[in-house]
Amino acid sequence: MLFKEKLKTVLLQTRALRFRQWMLPRSAVILAYHSVTTDWRKQADYINRGISTDAERFDDQMRTLRREYNPVTLDNIADWLRGTQSLPPRSVAVTFDDGFADNYDVAAPIMEKYNIRGTIYLTVNAVQRQELPWFCRAAFLFQQAKIRKTVLTDTETKRIWNLGNPQENHDAFVHYCYPCAKLVGEELQNYIEKLETWFGFHLDLNNVHGMMTFDQARKLRQQGHIIGNHTFSHGNIAHIQQEFLYQEIAEANKILEQELGEPVEHFSYPHPCLEPQWNNATLAETKKLNYKTAVLTNFGLVTRSCLPLLLPRIMISNQDNKEFRWKLETALAGIQT
Ligand SMILES: [Zn+2]
Repeated sequence: MLFKEKLKTVLLQTRALRFRQWMLPRSAVILAYHSVTTDWRKQADYINRGISTDAERFDDQMRTLRREYNPVTLDNIADWLRGTQSLPPRSVAVTFDDGFADNYDVAAPIMEKYNIRGTIYLTVNAVQRQELPWFCRAAFLFQQAKIRKTVLTDTETKRIWNLGNPQENHDAFVHYCYPCAKLVGEELQNYIEKLETWFGFHLDLNNVHGMMTFDQARKLRQQGHIIGNHTFSHGNIAHIQQEFLYQEIAEANKILEQELGEPVEHFSYPHPCLEPQWNNATLAETKKLNYKTAVLTNFGLVTRSCLPLLLPRIMISNQDNKEFRWKLETALAGIQT
């Protein structure tokens, strides 16, 4: 472990990775964030720590981007892929999935300090209802059940889950998230409410820092950020009933465009669980809407050979500055860590 850390330090200091990057064709990185919070510990109750970034860490990351890389927007990347614009070396775009209120309250003012503009993808139904999406409600149930050492009997299968056991808790979480990821709209709401009744407690949605408003999204647009579509319900659209695909992408897009008063040109695939994230039907739907880009959570570097409607990203959460630079430098050198 110690040796690995020392090796990282040496590789970052000697710029050996930069040499490898220089040998490769021009590329860009799209970073995928979710929540940026000043209350990292408390928020872990309902927003998984794997998708939360502490505000101070985020500040360090943005400062590093401004000093050592070239922050660009998704519009810049789209134009470059189309061949109408060049990109500087070490180009990095910042994106946020889901539409948490802290993107407006916490992340945007930090980005303003460093003159960085990002793309924020909204889960339309969650923003409309001003309620955290279903996966936060599910995370809260299982997190609390671990603390309370809840023993739960599945009323249908009669399986007994000992949710105080971390491994069993994790297995149960995955087990019950799979059906959720295949549902949308009312059916999804009903399923999550059924789970909450079954557990006997629920996340108090009025008492948590939740989703940004459309008004805040409009203000972010005025500040130069891009607002994109992250579907209506946040299901896995490659696995939902195909009759709902139009509602999840096109109708959600229409609502967003009405609220923003301008075209919405970028899309992000929700990836609560289940693979793959996309299929031919979802690709066709994003083509119909003439999106400039659609992004996945698949790891990868954006190169000129990438399809604009299936762009990979690099997931970022609470890495310190060294880990953040390591992720970026290795990604730009074409290495997955
Ligand atoms: Zn999401």
